[in-house]
Amino acid sequence: MKSGWETVIGLEIHAQLSTESKIFCGCSTKFGDEPNANTCPVCLGLPGALPVLNRRVIELGARAALALTLRVNERSIFARKNYFYPDLPKGYQISQFDRPFSEQGELEIMTAERDEGGHPREWRPMKVRITRLHLEEDAGKNVHEGLPDVDRYSYVDLNRAGTPLAEIVTEPDFRSSWEAYDYVNHVRHALQWVGACEADMEKGNLRCEANVSVRRIGDENFGTKVELKNLNSVRFMQRAIEYEIERQIELIESGGQVRQETRLWNEHAAETRVMRSKEEAHDYRYFPEPDLPPLIVGAEFIEQVRNSLPELPDTRRNRFMQEYDLSYNDASQLVSERALADYYEQAAKASANPRAAGNWIRSELLRELETANQTVAECLASPDELGALIRLIDEGKISGKQAKEVFIEMCASGKGAAAIVAERGMAQLSDTGEIDSAIDEVIAASPNQLEQYRAGKEALFGFFVGQVMKATKGKANPKIVNERLREKLKA
Ligand code: ADP
Ligand code: MG
Ligand code: ZN
Repeated sequence: MKSGWETVIGLEIHAQLSTESKIFCGCSTKFGDEPNANTCPVCLGLPGALPVLNRRVIELGARAALALTLRVNERSIFARKNYFYPDLPKGYQISQFDRPFSEQGELEIMTAERDEGGHPREWRPMKVRITRLHLEEDAGKNVHEGLPDVDRYSYVDLNRAGTPLAEIVTEPDFRSSWEAYDYVNHVRHALQWVGACEADMEKGNLRCEANVSVRRIGDENFGTKVELKNLNSVRFMQRAIEYEIERQIELIESGGQVRQETRLWNEHAAETRVMRSKEEAHDYRYFPEPDLPPLIVGAEFIEQVRNSLPELPDTRRNRFMQEYDLSYNDASQLVSERALADYYEQAAKASANPRAAGNWIRSELLRELETANQTVAECLASPDELGALIRLIDEGKISGKQAKEVFIEMCASGKGAAAIVAERGMAQLSDTGEIDSAIDEVIAASPNQLEQYRAGKEALFGFFVGQVMKATKGKANPKIVNERLREKLKA
């Protein structure tokens, strides 16, 4: 970024809460069904239909709020946000306005700027103030077909109408696109962790908008902000913000002014384009929803939810660092997903070598999963068996290189480590007597090399190791071979 400028970013995240039914009716939230199959008078917005709040939404909303350190208000109010759009048949969205479900979070995240190749430089902690998390319903979807101006048809699918959302809004606390990137990933993992939201941006169950402005360093006031939409992945969001920063700085430096508007990210063209300007901005004419009473959430309920939460990622990361002597980066990677963290902890125990377990998971396991396009839960190699495999290495029964082969088969077949080692006749030769006799044979067969070695050509040591390994078909324990060889070559 150009020097002399500072970026200011605030984020709004819409997270779909993982309920089976919608927020104000009993219709299914399942996607991919026939258009409009999951609808009823309430979510179709038919006159006279009355909303009834789904209790599960409150539980999941509270889980999300607590996981993100927000304070849950004992009393919150649903409000009508009025606007017209074909996918919103009531003419208003039921949301929350001046009395939201929860407020005032302060989240500590880890963030790092990235080098040219996208690799993190130095990780550092950062505090993000979360203004509010409120509850609302999603709208339906407009589906367009055919070519514009030729034979274009538009359809309205209301299966998504009434799906529960948590909207999470931050203060303008981010100063770079990577800080924003690390925050969204943190929120995604936290929501997945507590089971509040699937948080998959590609599937659209977590959506994100970025408000971006720039100002000259030293300026007290914020610049005019632009709202970025259509950010379909965290990486797209980061790129869109970078593009927008450059655009705004260039505009101001060439004498122009940033207009307050909404712009859409176009990943293909790698640029943002105007969607609507402030002049067309809505006045939502919010007012309290008369069909729903105030939402009262007692302290007891909040405590119950708090007690039912699993150990949260940050706590778990710190514990991993202490208990298992892992580095910050390694521990962070292992707690990036709850299933992975569980897998690690089980493997660490089963192996009695937590560091090795961490390395195996971060390199071999994650690679196998990526190759097979599997999740941790789908992996055929159990953490107990990975632990058993690590023990076989530590006991000198197989080499690290052999273990990698075994692990690949464990992932492919689900067979246990010991079974594969036995099947392939891999067990390492650690019997000193057998190794000694192999060494004696090799020495007897290589009188020239022996003479040169003893005359000072140390490099020939490798030659002898190689010969012994060959004689034992690669099964000899290399550590013992080295020890015994040194001994015998001296003699
Ligand atoms: P609006 O009424 O346009 O939605 P809000 O004040 O509710 O604006 O803020 C929406 C989001 O924009 C929040 O995340 C907030 O932190 C962020 N924001 C507000 N002002 C700025 C600014 N000047 N630059 C960047 N982000 C901002
Ligand atoms: Mg807004
Ligand atoms: Zn319905």
